[in-house]
Amino acid sequence: MKISDKLAAHQTFSFEIFPPKGDLPLEKAFEIAGAMATCGPDWISVTYSAGGSGNSDNTVAIAGSIEEKLNTTALAHLTCMGSTAADVDAYVAALAADGVQNILALRGDRRPGRGVVDFAHASDLIAHLRATAGDAISIGAACYPEGHVESPTEDADFEGLYRKQEEGADYLVSQLFFSNDDFYRFREKCLRHRIKLPIVAGIMPFTSVKQIQRMAFNCGASIPAKVVKRLVQAGDDAESQAAAGVEYACEQLCDLAANGVDGLHVYSMNKPAISAAAYEVLAGCGYLAR
Ligand code: FAD
Repeated sequence: MKISDKLAAHQTFSFEIFPPKGDLPLEKAFEIAGAMATCGPDWISVTYSAGGSGNSDNTVAIAGSIEEKLNTTALAHLTCMGSTAADVDAYVAALAADGVQNILALRGDRRPGRGVVDFAHASDLIAHLRATAGDAISIGAACYPEGHVESPTEDADFEGLYRKQEEGADYLVSQLFFSNDDFYRFREKCLRHRIKLPIVAGIMPFTSVKQIQRMAFNCGASIPAKVVKRLVQAGDDAESQAAAGVEYACEQLCDLAANGVDGLHVYSMNKPAISAAAYEVLAGCGYLAR
């Protein structure tokens, strides 16, 4: 089923997984997706990694098996930096053959040796997908409540976002953030910039001091004092830090649920325990009662 139809019908709840890296078997990803599917999410998204770990080939296989074996909607990510239009067409055809109708259209991060080929921006990819696949697919795009790290100005960021909408994106999924106020402010600014697409809020639990520092640097998310305090209170113990992260993420989810969000997406980092905790807290606060 198309995610755009789900978002039109109700507030959604979804998870993300990433294909296993290195020698981890594909079966491990199927197992993780199977465990997450027991919570009945609206969809499970599967990330795409062009270059680096080189696991993009597995995105189609995992997304296809989520649809086919788990009877759950899959959202396949696709980055276009360094890709040709023919590469994209082949990927879309492979997804269609596996019954996957949902694509998250992304540019991908800049990496040495991977430059622009046929697409400079996600909006170019969206235009191509819409022109070639029409309404056969539902297209999502990324948004950044605190701005994209490369954007010179806030207005430039919103111009890029507006372009995604105008080229045919159906909805937006946000980058992680640790202060819900950033998300609420962003939502209001979208309206002022004529961006009317449903916005799914993406939440990732922090797991350690190191991990949150890396995330802050990579995606420009700011770390509020209340998060620092939680980490300090958790002390040096790795388990306590991870538990504090899940607890904080669950509080964020509940607050977003109470504030009329279009959808909640949990960056569950291949950990079914995280998706289960998110499910429980959202069931408890009535978000999942439809
Ligand atoms: P773009 O929309 O192209 O934006 C990139 C920059 O260019 C921004 O600063 C924007 O303001 C600017 N811009 C946009 N359009 C124009 C224009 N027409 N002219 C000039 N400037 C413009 N990465 C992966 O590799 N694999 C994944 O699976 C993946 N999944 C993600 C899922 C989500 C929900 C999010 C939020 C990010 C994900 N990413 C993933 C990371 C993403 O690829 C990076 O954030 C990347 O740097 C930007 O992607 P984009 O699609 O937003 O690009």
